[in-house]
Amino acid sequence: LVSKLPEVGTTIFTVMSQLANQHQAINLSQGFPDYPCHPNLTAALAEATNAGHNQYAPMTGVPVLRAAISQKLSLQHGISVNPDTEITITAGATQAIFTVIATVLHAGDEAIIIEPAYDSYAPAVIAQGAVVKRVELSAPSYQIDWSLVEQSISNKTKLLIINNPNNPATTNFSSEDLNQLAMIAEKHDLLVLADEVYEHLVHDDAKHHSVLSHEALRSRSFAIYSFGKTFHATGWKMGYCVAPAALMAEFRKIHQYLVFSVHTPSQYALAKHLEEPAHWKGLASFFAERRRLLADGLNKAGFELIPGQGTYFQLAKYTQIQPQMSDVAFSEWLTKEIGVACIPISAFYASGKDDQVVRFCFAKELATLDKANERLLKLA
Ligand code: PMP
Ligand code: GLN
Repeated sequence: LVSKLPEVGTTIFTVMSQLANQHQAINLSQGFPDYPCHPNLTAALAEATNAGHNQYAPMTGVPVLRAAISQKLSLQHGISVNPDTEITITAGATQAIFTVIATVLHAGDEAIIIEPAYDSYAPAVIAQGAVVKRVELSAPSYQIDWSLVEQSISNKTKLLIINNPNNPATTNFSSEDLNQLAMIAEKHDLLVLADEVYEHLVHDDAKHHSVLSHEALRSRSFAIYSFGKTFHATGWKMGYCVAPAALMAEFRKIHQYLVFSVHTPSQYALAKHLEEPAHWKGLASFFAERRRLLADGLNKAGFELIPGQGTYFQLAKYTQIQPQMSDVAFSEWLTKEIGVACIPISAFYASGKDDQVVRFCFAKELATLDKANERLLKLA
């Protein structure tokens, strides 16, 4: 067999979580909560299985869930999304991302990825025989320069992949960023994959600007969401894609043969959970204290925090603590010697570019963060 992805190894999330377990380190590396999800959600799942929702769901997702999502989008953005033609339920955001990329890209086409980038985009592009064009955010605060995006476009470019708010950069696009994106996408007739899994995780009164609330972008975008992020249930691997009917029809051709349909009882449980908007509206305040606590600990330990507005991650520069170490060496050292695991940002650059920056996840119990801070104090 000739590998389609010769450069792909084990993901950094798996590597760091394993290392954390091996050394009994507090795992602030891979992004997942260490607290339970809402008891109503698990109760709704049990109810759904007991009610007999245990056979194949319709290919596009169960109607009550698509209707609940349409209702949520209407509350959130004041838009009308047709649940029958414009929404498909997927096995997490990851499957939606892969499906969009497989739907849009033919061999030889080009897709633009903004780095540092979430790790699943590039392999999905390469697996189609398509080509990745990379544009870097500008360090130290990871802002986007849209003129660099435009310069990387050729007549083979078909897809722009954006992640807003951005994991790992933690940046959040302004409405002007969306205008720039729309202008470029229209001018060069590009489709947009908008990974908005952290839509509800914006802090300090920042606002999330969705492609769905931007008319010009909505008409050419696949927007992707994850219930794992929004409902603290990453293990459920449930998400959805929203796109105009013509684009969604093509998406469903791939989805139909990739998975056909996804886990039925979870879909009923999620539909029920969505009925209460408080379940998704209060996320920023839920995370505020955790974010503040971790930032405080990192500051006291001598890290330099990189300001961000979104996601449940905090970026930190460690140059004052270990000036000579690469970010990979630092992450390993911190895990083994201090007992706190993080993620090196170089893993999100194809070139392995090292900004001496690491990522910590604050989707944790306050007690977990307290314990991590205690250990980090050894660095002060
Ligand atoms: N996109 C981004 C930016 C992510 O951080 C993640 C991981 N949570 C995903 C997609 C994948 O989401 P899911 O677990 O729903 O597949
Ligand atoms: N999205 C999670 C993170 O960024 C990890 C998901 C995964 O392990 N693939 O940490």
